[in-house]
Amino acid sequence: MTRQRLLTLLPTLIALGLLSPNTQAQTRQLNLYSARHYQTDEALYANFTKATGIRINRLDGKEDELVERIRNEGSASPADVLITVDAARLEVADALGLFQPVRSKLLEERIPATLRTPTWFSFSTRARVIVYNKSAVKREAVQSYADLAAPAMKGQVCGRSGSHPYNLSLGAALIAHDGEAKTEAWARGLVANFARAPKGGDTDQIKSVAAGECGVTLSNTYYLARMMRSTKAEDQQAMAAVGVVWPNQASWGTHINVSGAGVLKHAPNREAAVQFLEYLASNEAQAYFADGNNEWPVVASVKIANPALSALGTFKADALPIGELSKTTTLAQKVFDRAGWK
Ligand code: FE
Repeated sequence: MTRQRLLTLLPTLIALGLLSPNTQAQTRQLNLYSARHYQTDEALYANFTKATGIRINRLDGKEDELVERIRNEGSASPADVLITVDAARLEVADALGLFQPVRSKLLEERIPATLRTPTWFSFSTRARVIVYNKSAVKREAVQSYADLAAPAMKGQVCGRSGSHPYNLSLGAALIAHDGEAKTEAWARGLVANFARAPKGGDTDQIKSVAAGECGVTLSNTYYLARMMRSTKAEDQQAMAAVGVVWPNQASWGTHINVSGAGVLKHAPNREAAVQFLEYLASNEAQAYFADGNNEWPVVASVKIANPALSALGTFKADALPIGELSKTTTLAQKVFDRAGWK
């Protein structure tokens, strides 16, 4: 390592505790770059260390910053595993060549083929659903993503930015099922129906719908589950005012997305990294990992006791392979740009 390189890496090494005086050369460790920020993850990581003796040095950050950091660190990067949410973001990292292929019989057996790629794996799922104001919009009128773009919903739709990964992933699914031209027409219809310019996150949209500022929106399920479990009176009032629809049950199913992780190309602790991914697919870890953010486990046999998810019920999910879907998000951005969905 050149002196320049070492200086560049110094903040990372310090953040990971690799330069702390009590670092033992023989201690097995894993350097985890994480864009997940859930309290239950602490217990998850502690259990991994307890079970394997491998210490986890975690570096928390925003998705884009972590990806940029791994790029800049290059072949000297200490990062072993990148863990983040949304297939579109995992695809960004993959397209930059940041991951390396992983073959694991255990991961292949436990994670459905549609929820993994040769380089990264999903560990929990969330769905993008329709949320409507029960006194302003009839449930029958908003049964599909297409319904939100129909003339009947003029002035009723609230949304977040068309550039956000959650909407780009949905756009990718629409392109895969309906084609590019139809998806562009859908996005134009949606934009024409906006009650206001896109702003805020999914929770803001739910609150706007509940307050009657608009009639209908799209949201990821864990935001709904979070509000359902909230003890705040305002959240409970908001949830009482809205209804939730699983879109496209009569056709290809509701669009789902994932939390996932992959082993980085220059991982110094490759073996520990694969072991960590396998641990995330264990029954115990799956329950923690999914439930920590009110998501569903990817391992079908794992049960979680989450009252909000139980209340949401079951649905037909889109069966499109998540790895294929994520590759179309760049095209989805172009289509949304053309349609004026800012
Ligand atoms: Fe989110």
